[in-house]
This record gives sequence, C-alpha cells and structure tokens, in this order.
Amino acid sequence: MCVILEEEFIMTTTHNLGFPRIGGKRELKFLLEAYWKGILSKEKLLEEAAQLRQQNWQKQSGLDLVPVGDFSLYDQVLDMSFTLGNVPGRAKSLQANELDTYFRVARGQSGNESACQCIQAGEMTKWFDTNYHYIVPEFDRYTQFSLHAERLLQQVDEVQHLGAAAKPVIIGPVTYLWLGKSKDGSNKLDLLPSLLPVYKQLLKALADRGVEWVQIDEPILVTELDGQWQKAFEIAYHYLNEKFVKLLLTSYFGRLDENLALACQLPVQGLHLDVTHGLADVEPAITQLPEDGVLSLGVISGRNIWRSDISQILAWLEPVHQRLGERLWLAPSCSLLHVPVDLEAENAMDEEIKSWLAFALQKLEELQLVAAALDKGRSAVAEQLQINADARKSRQHSPRVHSRAVHRALENITPAMAQRQSPYPVRAEQQRNKLKLPAFPTTTIGSFPQTAEIRQFRRRYRQGEISDQQYQQLMQQEIAHCIREQELLGLDVLVHGEAERNDMVEYFGEQLAGFIFSRFGWVQSYGSRCVKPPIIYGDVCRTQPMTVDWTTYAQSLTGRPVKGMLTGPVTILNWSFVRDDQPRSLTCQQIALAIREEVLDLERAGIDIIQIDEAALREGLPLRHSDWDTYLQWAIGAFRLAANGVADTTQLHTHMCYSEFNDIIQGIAAMDADVITIETSRSDMELLDAFDQFNYPNDIGPGVYDIHSPNIPAVESIVSLMQKAQQRIPAGRLWINPDCGLKTRQWHEVVPALTHMVEAAGRLREQLAAS
Ligand code: GLN
Ligand code: ZN
Repeated sequence: MCVILEEEFIMTTTHNLGFPRIGGKRELKFLLEAYWKGILSKEKLLEEAAQLRQQNWQKQSGLDLVPVGDFSLYDQVLDMSFTLGNVPGRAKSLQANELDTYFRVARGQSGNESACQCIQAGEMTKWFDTNYHYIVPEFDRYTQFSLHAERLLQQVDEVQHLGAAAKPVIIGPVTYLWLGKSKDGSNKLDLLPSLLPVYKQLLKALADRGVEWVQIDEPILVTELDGQWQKAFEIAYHYLNEKFVKLLLTSYFGRLDENLALACQLPVQGLHLDVTHGLADVEPAITQLPEDGVLSLGVISGRNIWRSDISQILAWLEPVHQRLGERLWLAPSCSLLHVPVDLEAENAMDEEIKSWLAFALQKLEELQLVAAALDKGRSAVAEQLQINADARKSRQHSPRVHSRAVHRALENITPAMAQRQSPYPVRAEQQRNKLKLPAFPTTTIGSFPQTAEIRQFRRRYRQGEISDQQYQQLMQQEIAHCIREQELLGLDVLVHGEAERNDMVEYFGEQLAGFIFSRFGWVQSYGSRCVKPPIIYGDVCRTQPMTVDWTTYAQSLTGRPVKGMLTGPVTILNWSFVRDDQPRSLTCQQIALAIREEVLDLERAGIDIIQIDEAALREGLPLRHSDWDTYLQWAIGAFRLAANGVADTTQLHTHMCYSEFNDIIQGIAAMDADVITIETSRSDMELLDAFDQFNYPNDIGPGVYDIHSPNIPAVESIVSLMQKAQQRIPAGRLWINPDCGLKTRQWHEVVPALTHMVEAAGRLREQLAAS
C-alpha cells in the first residue's frame, strides 16, 4: 500500500523555457511604438508590460515552474547586457533614465527626441538558426561588469506574488561572451574572470529571493566548440558551483553530440536537452549524469507549429521515466518565443488544418498531457490521447497534404533539368547579342517605394472594397508610373516595381497550393517587429501563373528589357513554417518545381531577363559547419532546378541581401546565375575580398546604394566603390545597382539616388572607353 502511494506521488516536473512576450494581439509592439512616438508615458508602458507578464504567467500556471526574465521590452540578450552592467560607453554618457538608455542601445533612439540624443544603435544579428535577432553585446579589453539585477528580481517578486514557482532564465556566461563582438580585436574569453564574479552575485541575489532553480542558457553547446571554449565551460561552472541555487544548464536548437560529455561533467544540478532533433543524446546523458542530476527533456518542439505525436513520444519516454523517476523533467525543446501564442484565436482558419496545429498555449497543453500520461498512466488521459492520435492520423492520410501529381513531378526530375544548355561564357555571348546592354548596365533589385496609397489599394482589395477590375487598373497605373520613372532616370534594365506584393514570400505562398495563412500567427523578429510566416502544410504546386500578367504589362510599355521578379525556393522555405512529416529538402524541391513553371511561363511570354531572389539562402545554414555541405547541396540544387530550364539567351539573375559569403562562395558560384546582385555598400566592398581567392566566373552587381539609410549616395562615392570592385572583377562583368529593393524608401529619396547611380555609370563607361 505504502509503496503504491509513494509511486503515485512521484510527479514529473513540467516547466517552460520562455514564453512569447509580444502578446497574442501584438500588444507589446503597440505599447512600445506608442512610447517611442511619445504618446504613452514611461509609467504606463511599464505598467502595461507588467500586466502582459502577469497574463503570460497565468497562461502557464499549469506548469510546476514558470520562466521569469524571459519577458523583455526589446531583447533578452540586451537585458542580459544591462543586468551585467555592460552598456556601451556612447549610451552611458547621455543623461537619461535607464529605460531610454536601453532603447537607445537597442535602436539608436528612445522617444521623440532631438538628434543629439540619438546614438549608433547596437548591431543586430540572428539568434542561432532562428529568425529572431538579438542586440550584439559589445566588448573591448577594458570592459567591466557590475550587477544590475533589479529588473530580474522585481519579476521574481511578481511571480512569487502570484503564488507560482519562479525559475529565472538567464543567458550563461560562456554563451554571453560568445554572442558578443570584440571591438578592439581582444579575445573575448579574457573577460571571463571578471565576468564570473558578477554571475555569482546574481545567483546569490536570486537565492536570497527564495529562488530554488535557475535556468542558465548555454545554447552554444549545440555548436562545434574549440578547446578554449570548452575550457571556458569548465572554468565558469566550477567557479559558479556554490550551490546557492540549483542550476539547470540549458541547451537547445540541436544535439550536444561531442559536447555532451563536457556538459554532463559540469557541476550543475540539471541539464536540459532539445530532443526534437533526435534522441541520440538521451541515453548517454542518462548514463553520464550524476545520480541525482535532473534531466530535462525538451519533447515538444518550440520551433514548429505542428501538433506533436504524443503516442510516439510516450513510446520512448515511458521507459526513460521508469528509470529516472523524479529526476525527469519535461519542457518544450526551446523557448516558445519562436511560435505564435494561441491557435484558438484563429477563428477564420480551415478547421481541418487547424486541428493539425499547435501554437504556444497548445504546446503547453501537450506538455502537460505527456506528463499526465507518464504519471497517471495513459488510461487516465485516454480521451485526450485519442484526440491527439485522431488529429495526427487525419493529417497523415489527408488528400490535401499529399498530391499524386506533385509526387509524379518529383519522380520525373532529371539531372538535366538543373543544367543550363551551355556554359556561362557561351550564354553570356548570346545574351549580349540579344540584349545589347551597355557596359556597366544599371538596374534595381525589384521593388520601388510602397507608398501609403499602394498599401491602401491592396488593403481595400483584400477587404472586398474594390473589384478585381479596379484593383488591376490601379496596379497597372502604378506599374506605368514606375516604368516611366525608370525610363526618365535612364536605367538599362527595368522592373515592374512589385506594387502588388505585400511581402516577397507571402505573395507567392498565397498563390501556391499547400500553403495556409494565419491571422494572428505573429512571431517576434526583433524589438517590436513581428513576422507572420506562411504555413506549408501540404505538397506544393503552382495552380496558375503568378507574376506573368504584371510583368508582361510592364514590358508592353517600354522598349527596354523588363526583368521578371520571383522569390526563390530556398527563401520561401526558410521564411515559412514548414512540414515536419518530410525533409525540408523535399519541400524545397516542390517549391522549386512551382517556381520553375513560372520562370518558363515568363520566358514564353517574352521576358528575357528573370531574377530569382534568394535573400534567405545563407540563413538556412545549419549551426554545425559539418552539416553545411549537405544543406548547400540541396538548397543550391533547388535553386538550379527552379532557374535552369531557360534557353541560353534568357538571362538569369539572383539577388542576396547580406554581405558575408566568403565561406559559401563556391556554393554561390554553383548556382550558376548569369548575374548576381549583392549587398556591399555598407561594407565598402570588403565583401569582395572573397573574390581575391576565388575567381567568381559570372556577372556581379555589387550594391552601391545603401537602401537601409535615407542618405543619397554621391556620384563620386558610387564611382569609387565601383573602381574598388574593378580591382577584383573585370569591368565587363560588373553591373550597377542598389543593395536591395527600394520598397521601404520614398520616391524623393530614390530618384536622386538612382540619378547619381546612372550618372556614375556614365562616368565609368567613359573611363572604360578611354582606357
Ligand atoms: N525583389 C525584392 C525587392 O526588391 C528583393 C527583396 C529582398 O532581397 N529582401 O524588394
Ligand atoms: Zn535584398
């Protein structure tokens, strides 16, 4: 009897690593933006933010431990920098309250303030392989740290006041250093000895508040670490081993693999593993962890929006539970920051597809279901398990997911389809003869300013306030205006301007089969900015031409070539929520076939130049270098499949908006686009360093106009940038174009900037003729 009772009381601990803070209706976004505009007071902002936190904790109240400190007014890494007193000097010198200083580091300015109060914003970069961007901590050899724990401690008080058990979340010291950038070339790891005492004080302060467990995030454990970083882990965690509080060493976004042994040896009280990337870490962790060590398993994906397969999880987890008993904890794989808040809000979504999905709140319910099935037995939750199994089954067998025609098309792919008819030099010659472009041809990347008017047309059309015909007319007027302006500017290769596109992925997703869109599926991208990624639920195919009418209309208005504009398969994939029932590579191939059809239709309609944007190719790179080749192989294969069905005389462009690709330059060359346009102006053509070692064979348009800035580039600066480019790439293979699309700019900025660009081209042509 006694034994049974005891067994019944063994409960699996459930917890969460982080909750989306933006709010189900993007409340935080609107609060922040109102504060920055000066129409919301600081007190009100802080009060409303505290309310949001409280609501978030209430939503998580079914868990044994709730995360604290995951909430942020801008970014959790920036919060950590402030907690550690690592605030850039340029921000500290301004007289301001801490909140305004914080926003200045985040975004250059806080409220509506005078220019002298603006500073250079902190650099922003991607958080591992997610679409979230963090503010990069800045270091130099003199960086000093000091503890400012008020924010975190206050939030601990808030949770305790609610009667919940608080588990503060902090970024661990090794990952914190790794995430930052040394401004003076010094070794960031030299700062570890001065950083650790501040962490120790922080842990002590949390212990004094009655905190039992602290989640200390060290996601770099899923990356390849060299000896000095491994050593840093040992130094850090032996130093912090004071046992004021218990530490849950937390990794996510991948497997630990060779770092697992290191993690298991560290003197911490628990380890969290993301097991959605495979179970390979689980068994070795059980054998290597100390006998009383907690093993927290991230069994529910925090990255996708699919319902979990609970019976499949239970099948392997039940024996683990048997062995670990109370030492087993359960959580989502990572913070739920990366998924939308609540599926229930989707009142207009197709019911069947909706039943296949789970957003943050549904994921927490799944977590509790798994825990209940373990603790009480499957029969105690049979009904919920059945609902889960039914939903999974309906998805697995749905004809809406699987299309015979798509499978047949995939089977019929041949290597020749990804291959241009002739090598680049032969094609280039034919294209020259056909297109008759001058040296240093000028072009743009696709979009022209999206005025308030254009956005209003689209909104009214969407809401059914204007008819198809009216909409088409309005858009044609925009296209005509755009073509006229480009002719006046004297550009060589024109574009239709993309007025009809709200977003370069959504526009295509809405027209392709296999995609669905949520109404409130927002995910934070950075600060107050959110994205609403399309959801790919089924086999993808094209049901009708997507861009041909707009493009041919534009071409009908001018004698100059108009470039067709498409988004590439890799970018569509990387900016969507993708299926978890087939490899990403396969979904990508399906999208590639759909884009290929569009390419061929454009060609048939007389469009001689087609651009396929792959803005997000680089960000799909896996966290481990050793996985890069596999990714590049299928990603570039998909691009080639989409692009390479055209005749030699058709000129294929691609565009990428980042400046570091030294490390993937061979892959970029393997795409074999006739012309590639890239971002370079901000890095002063440094990017072209890659071309010193590697002889990029095809045409290149290095961006000469930084479209992220309102500044108008001077003719001289464009000429000098292009002269730098000519030191690496023969003049005959250079194009002149902006960094990226112009949709966020205004016409009164774009016109003078492009005028300068065309003028610069003229001067370069004269120089070339004279040489
Ligand atoms: N063609 C797109 C545009 O001009 C490209 C945008 C991008 O690369 N992000 O807007
Ligand atoms: Zn771009």
